[in-house]
Parts: sequence; structure tokens; C-alpha cells
Amino acid sequence: MATASIVPVPASHLDAARDAEPATTAANAAMAARLPFDDVADFETAKRGLIAEIPEGIVRTATGTVLWNLGEYAFIDGELAPSTVNPSLWRMARLNMANGLFKVTDRLYQLRGFDLANMTVIEGDTGLILIDPLTTADIARAALAHYFAHRPKKPVVAVIYTHSHIDHYGGVRGVIDEADVKAGRAAVIAPNGFMEAASGENVLAGLPMARRAQFQFGYLLPRGAKGQVDAGLGKGAARGTPGLIAPTQLIVAPVEEHTIDGVRIVFQLAPETEAPAEMHMFYPDFSVLNMAENACPLLHNFIPLRGAVARDPRVWSKYIDDAIAMYGPKTDVLIGQHHWPTWGREAIVDYLEAQRDLYKHIHDQTLRYMNKGWRPAEIAEAIELPKGLDARWSVRGYYGTVSHNVKAVYQRYLSWYDGNPCNLHPLPPAPAAKKFVEYMGGAAAVISRARADFAKGEYRWVAQVMKEVVYADSTNKEARALCADALEQMGYQAESATWRNAFLYGAQELRHGVFQMPARALMSADTLAGLATDAFFDMVGTRLDPAKAAGLSMVLNWHFTDRAEKLALTLKHCTLTYRMGEWSKAAAASITMSRATLDAIVLGKTTGQEAMASGALGIEGDPTRFAALFGMLDRPGSMMFDILTA
Ligand SMILES: [Zn+2]
Repeated sequence: MATASIVPVPASHLDAARDAEPATTAANAAMAARLPFDDVADFETAKRGLIAEIPEGIVRTATGTVLWNLGEYAFIDGELAPSTVNPSLWRMARLNMANGLFKVTDRLYQLRGFDLANMTVIEGDTGLILIDPLTTADIARAALAHYFAHRPKKPVVAVIYTHSHIDHYGGVRGVIDEADVKAGRAAVIAPNGFMEAASGENVLAGLPMARRAQFQFGYLLPRGAKGQVDAGLGKGAARGTPGLIAPTQLIVAPVEEHTIDGVRIVFQLAPETEAPAEMHMFYPDFSVLNMAENACPLLHNFIPLRGAVARDPRVWSKYIDDAIAMYGPKTDVLIGQHHWPTWGREAIVDYLEAQRDLYKHIHDQTLRYMNKGWRPAEIAEAIELPKGLDARWSVRGYYGTVSHNVKAVYQRYLSWYDGNPCNLHPLPPAPAAKKFVEYMGGAAAVISRARADFAKGEYRWVAQVMKEVVYADSTNKEARALCADALEQMGYQAESATWRNAFLYGAQELRHGVFQMPARALMSADTLAGLATDAFFDMVGTRLDPAKAAGLSMVLNWHFTDRAEKLALTLKHCTLTYRMGEWSKAAAASITMSRATLDAIVLGKTTGQEAMASGALGIEGDPTRFAALFGMLDRPGSMMFDILTA
């Protein structure tokens, strides 16, 4: 395999990586002894039905840029994990190398290993039904081309988004033409609330989420036994700009059956589970159940490390149980939009019951301890999966962990605040750290003690205390190095790919500094176009700089001609609010244009002046108010803000 790197940081960063310390080697050996490594059934299942792997393991753009390269993972080749990788994670890292076009059953195929998620292909009577077109158009196009290299070429008649996460819809433009959608030649089907959810999570808090996702997925870590080995759900997410075509049909009833191109599909809505808008599907003609992302062969996240609104594991478990009850007795193959299928009715029900109980157990036990007055970190330390459940590969914490999922349950019910008023108004990190280090006798004394603890293998504590020294003085090279060393050993020991990535990427930033990425666009044109107008003005409100709006009040009327929408936007108390559906008599100006024109101005494709000159933008009243509003807004900043230093 060719080895063109798709990671923008130099592979030489791995030179600074240290070996596994004895305590890490011992911890990983203990894990190897504890888990049922003689159960290798998943390795056969992950390859079952393989028709053809991705040629060379590489996906390129039309101009030859490498977008995806499994060759970078060629080091993942033996059964035995290196001492720098948790053996259980190593197992998943090997399984996630299975890639290519797979036949699941007659008329149902999956493209796996092109991206984080799978694209499922159902062969209808006249064309194809595609489920979840991956993250970017280039990747989705390449995956579909791989399918066509081995199966008859047919038009795509429908795309189904199982849920509102970008690895499940962002590549839609690579597999269908919007003109075909508009002309009714291709349907786009999604669960109720899809558009609101897709913009909700990714727009208002998109920038810090993207920054934190670098830690979760380890995008900027070199691949290697001392670097990124996996992302839990797959090897990683494809690069490029995601797109979006809005659904033409929403599934709104709890259960709906439709026949699409001759194929019966029973949709089961499962909102507020792994995503705010998500649905399962049962295909009675094939006896196949598709659980979307609600029953992957791992412990998923109640809140991912990138950050999200806390999910509800109670209803998540309930929807899995509903699926067992409704479809379990009729299902021969279980598929998901990540990983490999499960075959056999008994095995499927057994697998789903384990998933159901996994989420419910963590939820219930966290609440049991909360009701005894335990604090989040104490509960996280106390809860273990019950014997019998914890030895199943399909519930291991490759993506989520029991530890951070417990904290998510606590947050969902009782918030970030643990109830101790000493934690209600503490000093912020940097001034607190300066005091800590001063009280502890200065940085040199703290480092010296932490070195002794490092030698004893107490990496969690070393990272915890070195964090204070680094926050107190980010130029302290010794503290940064020791903190990095501790995080690194924690990464080597982590079973969760996301924890490993976060620890190792933290170490990399402490050693090499924050990698500077080119400024990020506010959002893609598709995301902006997909944003409802109220959601658009919600976003505008989050960019208002109070210093620039100080003392100002005004009302602006808006009329978006292409969407037949009117609203009145009020600036008062350095805060923007709006009323949809009405104009105010008190407005300083009334602005008429299309949303498309507004979007073009926001994206910098045109300016307000140009739009006025061309007649695309009309302003009645005070014409300076429109520019004044834009002048009060923050420009989006660089997402590469400091995390490990104050
Ligand atoms: Zn996904």
C-alpha cells in the first residue's frame, strides 16, 4: 500500500513519544489476561460477505489529493498488541480495518471502512436506496463507485438519513443531484426534527465542538503504535467539507411503513437517543433490522468528548427494547451504520438485550449512587458493569466509557454543580493554579514530588497536579514535559479510542504547541442554506459583541421573499431577540431580500452594498442600520484556542 499521509502534522512528532512504562505494560497485560481473547468470532463476522476491499485502501479526489488512506494503519497487523496500546482497543483497531463492499443478504450491501460510518445500499426494483451517505461528497462518491465496480449500475432513487450526525449525511451530494431531488426523481427521507437537530448541535457551538473533536478523534496525531490507532466507531472521519440536501420526506409517526421502489421499510423513530433525531428500520422483505447508531458493538457516548447536550440513556434503552419486541422474532440479520452485522435470530436478540441493559444499567446505577449523595467522580470510580455483561466484547468502552457516561447522567439530572458550595464560586483555572503552586511550595517542589509519583505509575495524579503547574505558568518546560509523559501513559493504557486520542493529543500539544490550522469558514453553504431563519437569527445573537452594541436600541424588519418569511429583530440591552411572522411599526428600517442573498452576504460571496446596487437588497428607512448590525458581530475566530494552557 502507498503511504501518503493525510495527517497535516509531521510524523516526526512521534519521535518525542516515550515507550510504555512498566506500570503501563503491567496494566495492559492485566487487561489481556482478564478479557476473553480466545473469542475471535467477530473477526470472521467482520469479513463475512466481503466482495472487494477498497483498492489500495486509498480514496483520492478527482485531482489526486489523498482523502483517506488505510495504508497508514499498516502497522496494525498482529494479534499481539504493542505495549503502547491497550490490548482490547488493539482488537477493535484490527476489526475496524475490515473495509470494502460487503454483501449482507440478497439486495442489501454495505460499504464499510471508507469513513467513520457505513453506507448501506438496498437494491430496489428500479434503482438504489442509499442509507447514510458518509461525511463528504468525495468519499461518498468513491464508495458508490466501488459498489458500481461490482454491481449493476442503477440510479439512486432515495437517500435515507438515519440521524442528524454529519458522518451520516454530509456526503449526500456525492451520490445524488439536488436537481433530481427537486424534480422528484430522488427522495430524501429523515427522522422528524432532522434539520433542527443537524443545525442545533453543529451551528451554535460548532467551533469549540470542532476543536474538541480533534482530541476525540485524534485527527492531528500521527498514526502509529504510539499515536492514533482507531476512533472506536471506525478508523476516523473523512476530510473535506460536508454538504446537506434537506429531506423531502420526514418520518413523523412512532412507526411508519413505506414501500420505496418496491422495498418495504418499517421506520421506528428513536428520538433523543444517540442523536436528537434518529430512527431504526426493519426491512421485512429481507428480515434485516437496521439499528442506525443505537446498538453498535461497543459502549457509546451519553456525551461525547467533543461536547453535546446530554443524551437520555433511559429512552435509548427503551427504544432498543421496543425494537427487540417488534422485530426480534422476525430478524435474521442485524446491521448498523457503523461496524459489522450480527447474524442469527438468537444471537441478535442476545446482542440487543446486552445493549439495552448496558445503557439502562449505567443510568440506573448512577442514579442509585446519586440518591445516596455520591459525587460524579466518586460514582464514576465505583460503577463497574455486572459480571457476565462486562466480558462481552460488544459492550466494551471503545468509544464511550462507563466513567464519562456516569458523569453525563449526573449532568443530565443534577447539572455541572456537585452541590458543594465551595465549588460554587471558585477562582478560574489560571489564578487558582497560581495559588495552588504557591501554597505547595513552588513549581520545582511540585515537579519533584510528581516525578516520584510518575515513577510509581500514578499517572492520573501526575497529570492532575501538573495541570496546575502548567496553568500557573505555561512556559514551564519541565512541567509541560512531565504532564505530557503522564497523559501519554494514560493514553497507552486506555481501552477507549477517544480517551487514548484525547490523552495522546494533549501530550502532543504540550510537547509541540498548538498546531495552527487555516481559519475555518463560518459554516458550509449547505449548512447555512439548511438553517431555518429563526435558527439563523439565534446564531446571529450568539455573535453579538456587547461592547459594540452598548447603549444602542433598534428594531429591524426583515422580509425574505424566497421563503415568504417576515420577522422583526430587536436589539435592546446588548441582546438580539426576534418575533417571527410580523413586522414592527417601530422599525428603523425594513429590509427586503431573499434568504439566498443574505446567505451570500454572510458567506462573503457578495456585500450588502453590491446587493443594494443590483437590486437584490432593498432597504426602506435608515439604510445605515443594516451595516450597523453586521458591524456589531464577532468575526469567527480561529478554532485552535488553548486548552491545556491558560
Ligand atoms: Zn456515526
